[in-house]
Amino acid sequence: MSTVIPHWLDKQADLSPNEVAVELRDGTKVTFSSLAENSRIKARQLASANIKKGDHVAILSGNSIEMMEMIHACSYLGVVVVLLNKRLTAYERKQQMLDAEVTILITEAEEADLREIKQLTFEGLEQLEASKEVQLLEEIELSNVFTMMYTSGTSGFPKAVQHTYENHWWSATSSGLNFGIHKDDKWLIPLPLFHVSGLSTMLKGIIYGMPIYLLEKFVVKDVHDAIMNKQVTMASVVTVMLQHLIRHLGEASYPESFRCMLLGGGPAPESLLLQTKEKQIPVFQSYGMTETASQIVTLSPGDALRKIGSAGKPLFPAQLKIQGQGLNEAGEILVKGPMVTHGYYNREEANKKSFDNGWLATGDVGYLDEEGFLYVVDRRSDLIISGGENIYPSEIENVLLQIDGIREAGVTGREDMEWGEVPIAFIVTDREIEIRDINLFLRNKLARYKQPREVYFVDQLPRNAANKLVRQALKKYL
Ligand code: ATP
Ligand code: MG
Repeated sequence: MSTVIPHWLDKQADLSPNEVAVELRDGTKVTFSSLAENSRIKARQLASANIKKGDHVAILSGNSIEMMEMIHACSYLGVVVVLLNKRLTAYERKQQMLDAEVTILITEAEEADLREIKQLTFEGLEQLEASKEVQLLEEIELSNVFTMMYTSGTSGFPKAVQHTYENHWWSATSSGLNFGIHKDDKWLIPLPLFHVSGLSTMLKGIIYGMPIYLLEKFVVKDVHDAIMNKQVTMASVVTVMLQHLIRHLGEASYPESFRCMLLGGGPAPESLLLQTKEKQIPVFQSYGMTETASQIVTLSPGDALRKIGSAGKPLFPAQLKIQGQGLNEAGEILVKGPMVTHGYYNREEANKKSFDNGWLATGDVGYLDEEGFLYVVDRRSDLIISGGENIYPSEIENVLLQIDGIREAGVTGREDMEWGEVPIAFIVTDREIEIRDINLFLRNKLARYKQPREVYFVDQLPRNAANKLVRQALKKYL
């Protein structure tokens, strides 16, 4: 029998009815009781639109209170929420909706060219009468699927990750065990709710009884203002955001009450971590993926410099191992834990390949040091094999980024008659740089076989809707 708990939003509305659940930039504050109340009304309106338990309902929206209420509304009906990325093209979103077998799209603004799937705008839903007959769920059965969202598609075609309530529950509690839950905590969400980082923070708010400060999107000065003036104590960011924030911070420093800058989503260059140390920003490096319902490994600031470049250790209920390798040897990272998805929707092949006895093969390569700290090296699919030697593009990119004037770097392998493959680099620069100087720099830092055979100057690198470098797409430039 699966574990059942009271509906988490009703529970929090009962425990802390008048406490703030959500705060917006314009000063709007929403309490737990009104969040629950409005979500319940929306659930009844969804029922009037004929939406019922087990349906797959897509939501397309930027961050807003309405979107949060809509997500909670679905939980009162036992509906599976499919969260769509606003930055994808309409065509890509349609493909995802068909793939996820969505019956209706609930959207902020009408989606043109979409005949296959019924749609209803937030406003349209607002016009519907709240159904009186429908029985809203009072309990959450933890083993049920709550949300589905697509991976970023960095290494191939995106897959729909299914998250059960249990995955979200454990993600929130594991994070709480790691950071502690302080009475004055307020967590900033500058990342989209349609990504796992934003969604998981939203659910932490409900489960901890903690206010979240919700931004519509990442704007440097708004994030800066939230940390400096709005008593935010924690924030989740990705590397590029942190780079912008540091530049904006200048000589100033964040208030002492700001206790955690959770950094995730991708690798962080060493130079950036050193800057954060200098500015005393409490950065927690982390490693995670959509499949793990947010971070599954974190590094505390206390260890940050001693273990520079490490993502830390797995959270309390999580396990991690490196496929078939000894200490300090790189291999595929495997993870296991109650926050890890049970599988991709309708992807039997991928599921067979990725899951074994509760262990998820992440597709990332990393190693563990003698103290058990994880170092993420790269994605397995991006590995370059040259003359039998393994080359990780990220290692070369990191060295390139140390060169003053190189803003972005991407490395991929090109077929080579003699070596099988050779590394080729693409760079975006802020100013004119001589190829000769680049090569000179690399010569001292990288073994000969890792030195890029060619370096190309480009205006921009291919990135996906999550702003991640798509190395496979670099091959098209060759
Ligand atoms: P797809 O699975 O479709 O290729 P994706 O893996 O980019 O897309 P996400 O789930 O958004 O989709 O991203 C998770 C991935 O981000 C991880 O598997 C890893 O490759 C990368 N990543 C996350 N944290 C780190 C980190 N600390 N260091 C290096 N890479 C990281
Ligand atoms: Mg992935």
